[in-house]
Amino acid sequence: MRLAKRIGLIKPSATLAVTAEVARLRAQGTQVIDFGAGEPDFDTPQRIKDAAVRALAAGATKYTPVAGTKQIREAVVAKLKRLNGLDYAPEETVATCGGKHALFGAFQALFEEGDEVVLPAPFWVSYADMLVLAGAKPVIVHGSPEAGFKITPEQLRRAITPRTRGVVLNSPSNPTGAAYDAPSLAALGKVLVESPDVFVIVDDVYEVLYFEGATPPHLLATYPELRPRTLIVNSVSKTYAMTGWRLGYAAGPVEVIKAITTLQGQSTSNPAAVSQAAAAEALAGPQDEIAPMVEEFRWRRDYVVDRFGRIPGVKCVRPEGAFYAFPDVSGLFGRAWRGAPLGNANRVCEFLLAEARVALVAGDDFAAPNHIRISYATSRDNLRNGFDAIEKAVGALG
Ligand code: PMP
Ligand code: GLU
Repeated sequence: MRLAKRIGLIKPSATLAVTAEVARLRAQGTQVIDFGAGEPDFDTPQRIKDAAVRALAAGATKYTPVAGTKQIREAVVAKLKRLNGLDYAPEETVATCGGKHALFGAFQALFEEGDEVVLPAPFWVSYADMLVLAGAKPVIVHGSPEAGFKITPEQLRRAITPRTRGVVLNSPSNPTGAAYDAPSLAALGKVLVESPDVFVIVDDVYEVLYFEGATPPHLLATYPELRPRTLIVNSVSKTYAMTGWRLGYAAGPVEVIKAITTLQGQSTSNPAAVSQAAAAEALAGPQDEIAPMVEEFRWRRDYVVDRFGRIPGVKCVRPEGAFYAFPDVSGLFGRAWRGAPLGNANRVCEFLLAEARVALVAGDDFAAPNHIRISYATSRDNLRNGFDAIEKAVGALG
């Protein structure tokens, strides 16, 4: 079979692959604790499901406008005002099939062969592949564990060349949970203000999952002058436990929104009508579910950091947000398993799946091969049992 060359440029999503492997093992009857899946373990709040049922009864079963219904676009506008203090018009927004497809559309609309896009690392696996599909070259800038996985303004400045067309910022971050505080975000923003040819993509999907007090002001609230060359990408997936509804959105300059909409009109047509109605309720309705969810994630973050801290050979930076931690496991690479040193993060994950029945994602595709990612979007019981099993398995290594 001859497939198009572009397929050879990308690989399956490492995060979705682990989720699939867990499902495969469970279908065989093998019990596995899933620390791999990047999705909340909470259920979608009832008020949102009820809104979806009402919408179906009212006929939300047809195509909608390509960029989304009036209702969802107005809900996005209201959310950007309420949470971020930003003013957008409905025409400056588009509803998409998940935040993922907003990013896909944005990269296709903005970048082409020869363009460089600065990608702070460790980064979510899909950015790099989606950029390559658009023909762009990801320029990877590593935030070191010592710097809490954050890049410095100097690093950003150095990475920007005359070929740089974009930068992707994701705070709190997948996979590290690192989040810029107000001064460090402002320092990056200043570099961006001074780089007028760089388009800024801000991926806010984890914005409410911040554990260090008041959420820092949005980049665009601090630097409104960046607005004409910034696209905000967000989603209801993480904030409202709605991963399966596939509803994301973007807000930005009308030209970019129109370009994403044209692409959408020639690909997905529109996100599911019922999901748009549910997401409108999610964004515009009462927000009471969020605070208890954030509290629970904060507790789990503390627990995870504490448990990793007690495992020799593992070093874990304390994340400030999201629901991931990203420990360095290179201290285990020299330990022997099945007659050979573990050697790399993939094999550490293989070992933990085989011996502790715990699924994690290796750091390679996040551009951090000494690390593994744990998603703690799972119950306290699962965390306790999973860490007990990890501790026991590591203790038994040669
Ligand atoms: N951005 C980041 C950083 C993510 O981790 C995810 C997770 N899937 C997404 C975007 C997209 O999420 P979704 O498509 O479910 O909205
Ligand atoms: N973003 C989540 C993760 O990193 C969901 C899977 C995906 O889309 O990558 O696990």
